[in-house]
Amino acid sequence: MSERIYSWGHERRFNAYSNYFKKEYGARIQKVSIDAGFTCPNRDGTLGYGGCTYCNNEAFNPSYCKASKPVAQQISEGIDFHRKRYRRVEKYLAYFQAYSNTYDSLDNLKKIYNEALSIPGVIGLVIGTRPDCVDKAKLDYLSELSEKTFVLIEYGVESCYNTTLERVNRKHTFEQSEKTIIETAERNIKVGAHIIFGLPGETRQQMLDEAGILSRLPLNNVKFRQLQIIKGTEMARQYCENPEIFNLFSWDEYLDFFIEFLERLNPEFVVERFTGEAPPEMILGPRWFMKRTDQILTLFEKRLEELDSWQGKKFNAIE
Ligand code: SF4
Repeated sequence: MSERIYSWGHERRFNAYSNYFKKEYGARIQKVSIDAGFTCPNRDGTLGYGGCTYCNNEAFNPSYCKASKPVAQQISEGIDFHRKRYRRVEKYLAYFQAYSNTYDSLDNLKKIYNEALSIPGVIGLVIGTRPDCVDKAKLDYLSELSEKTFVLIEYGVESCYNTTLERVNRKHTFEQSEKTIIETAERNIKVGAHIIFGLPGETRQQMLDEAGILSRLPLNNVKFRQLQIIKGTEMARQYCENPEIFNLFSWDEYLDFFIEFLERLNPEFVVERFTGEAPPEMILGPRWFMKRTDQILTLFEKRLEELDSWQGKKFNAIE
């Protein structure tokens, strides 16, 4: 291990999510996923019916997380599920994960968020949504709430390039993401961004350049994942018809790419995740993600050590 203490206050070579919570709350915090039965404007016809071409929310939903169950029940079952694996965890964040979790009336949202916060052990909310699914009233409410409890809004940005966003049928622009991230941060709400690497048409250099673009935004938290082609999606159909338009990362390629990306990334951003895992039976194409998450993390940190690399090593150089 490196003995250097980095600007984020510990010797791990990236600003890791688990360390952030240990520092802020003195303990490991576990997220419990919830499917509160929301939909999304790209599915209910407001913007479109088909959704983003890669979207299949089932691929990332844990088994205890079903929209048919009340939110409180999903959280209690989620806590039981995690307690078996991490006995010492006592604090949880309710993670509204599936679809667009601010896409409802403010009154309904208040009811659902408060139901989650009433469960013993739940110390805050993580709310995944689209950048076009919040407005002033919702942000003002979440700003008030965040004075009393942990609130993080995680926006699906997915790409900094509008041509890519159009290609995958996102139906919002990068400028909308930027504007919403700024408006959220201005209200002192913690704000996160989710990005997918390997979307069709993007070059390696374009993806590396996203580090500089994102680094200028007032983000607290960032999550990344490699593109996976999920069976049953529009993208799976495109992949079967024209596999040559996809350039899916092998594990080795992704590891080296991500380390190069990380060196350019703002060291103040907490990195929550850098790969994604859908169940192997749902994936078409390369399946290196069958490695377990802890194995992936070990390989990643070993590689950072070998290369004497760390988050933000080249951040100032690209500003
Ligand atoms: S990825 Fe998100 S925004 Fe896109 S269709 Fe699925 S739920 Fe809607």
